Amino acid sequence: MKFPEEVYSPKRFREQGSAVVELIATCIEDSISGTQNKVIEMTDPATAMAEVQQWFDQCAADESKDVAGLFSNIYQRAIRLHHPGYLGHQISPPLPDAALASLFSDFLNNGMGVFEMGVAGTAIERFVVKSLAKKMGFSETADGFLTSGGTLGNLTALLAARRAKATDDIWESGVQKKTALLVSSQAHYCIDRSARVMGWGAVGVVKVPVKRDFSMDVLQLEATLEAAKADGLEVIAVVGSACSTATGTFDNLEEIGLFCRRHDLWFHVDGSHGAASVYSKEFGDRVKGLHLADSVVMDFHKLLMTPALATAVVFKEGRWAAENFAQKAEYLWGDANHVDEWHDLAKRTFECTKSMIALKVFTILAVHGEQVFDDNVTALFRSAAEFGALLRSAGDFELATSPQSNIVCFRFTPSGDHDLDLLNRKIRAELLSQGEFYIVQTILDDRAWLRTTIANPFTGKSHFENLLNEIRRIGNAFLKG
Ligand SMILES: *Cc1c(COP(=O)(O)O)cnc(C)c1O
Repeated sequence: MKFPEEVYSPKRFREQGSAVVELIATCIEDSISGTQNKVIEMTDPATAMAEVQQWFDQCAADESKDVAGLFSNIYQRAIRLHHPGYLGHQISPPLPDAALASLFSDFLNNGMGVFEMGVAGTAIERFVVKSLAKKMGFSETADGFLTSGGTLGNLTALLAARRAKATDDIWESGVQKKTALLVSSQAHYCIDRSARVMGWGAVGVVKVPVKRDFSMDVLQLEATLEAAKADGLEVIAVVGSACSTATGTFDNLEEIGLFCRRHDLWFHVDGSHGAASVYSKEFGDRVKGLHLADSVVMDFHKLLMTPALATAVVFKEGRWAAENFAQKAEYLWGDANHVDEWHDLAKRTFECTKSMIALKVFTILAVHGEQVFDDNVTALFRSAAEFGALLRSAGDFELATSPQSNIVCFRFTPSGDHDLDLLNRKIRAELLSQGEFYIVQTILDDRAWLRTTIANPFTGKSHFENLLNEIRRIGNAFLKG
């Protein structure tokens, strides 16, 4: 193709674009109708590499340079989130309209670091963040930004916690004291990683024990704090999980919030997964007390049908969004406009150039209204409760804990004396190689569990029944040897 005319050709884009949209529409149709019976077609990494080489060679040799043809090959080895058998890690099957927003924002490629590099994108981001903050129960003073994933969002919020509460100016002078936070033993690993990135080391994460339902045992907060102080740690924050990753259990945010207030600690809520409950009229009380948080992180890509990565970091006091990364001089000059400079977003985030993350969320809100978020969260949480009830009544299954979100952990427990950890691991491996269901596994109390996230509103009772029957069939076959 002649450069630059042909590679940028609108005519070519029209043809290729239509073919790609047609391909995606067919993929959605096949997934939802069940024509496509596999959610994943697993292979080994070496075969995957060999196939990629093959697709590359095929596309390179093909005169028409067929993008849709290339994508259709890729689809064969992609995990298919729109398939009702997708019950794996926490990520949404994106709304087709939101995928179009991704295409459009990738075309615009507005850098967003400074206002003029994304006038619409910057204002849209503010709109999205402000409307979310309100939904979370914060006042007008709340503010924040969107960033690339809950992992980065949590680190950014914890940097603000450090700036607000640590007695040393660590941002300027480096770590002097032993700084720490309190978090439940069920927290996502990124909290631990954040503490280590900030130079606090493993001792910087003090684990609060959990109750039987895997939520933080708030009655142990006081003693845990005292013990940490006695160990010479300067504790600056408590992180609540809303919800935890493994079992989808919500910490008691209200209790943690009051504890933080009493002890002048920063209260951060890792709501990467479950803070989206604020959109559900039926399940909103799962995050009761969320408004007590100093900072909250929420992923739009987990429960809200938005293509990844789309994460909001919200601060109760919006100035922390603005001051977090400020250099000392800039911070001290206290330019009256400084805090109000919401429109130069790179001052607030790790990213310099950033994609127009907010457009995906804004498109959903503008086209479908907030109700679609309620519809999805409510449908998925109800569906998980239904699955939980099915497991409880089954007799040959054990439920780790009653589902509080759309995450359900369970295991196959046939009668007799068996190594249930081994059996359940084998079941999960066999399901993966069959590819009709995709589920994952986790360890709870040193035992192996099967773990599902109901991510797809098209997944229903018949799929749950089929999954359990399939698990029984595979499990019994293993036991017979
Ligand atoms: C998923 C999750 C994260 C990580 O978020 P990413 O967007 O995958 O980076 C952090 N915390 C919790 C509780 C999560 O569920």
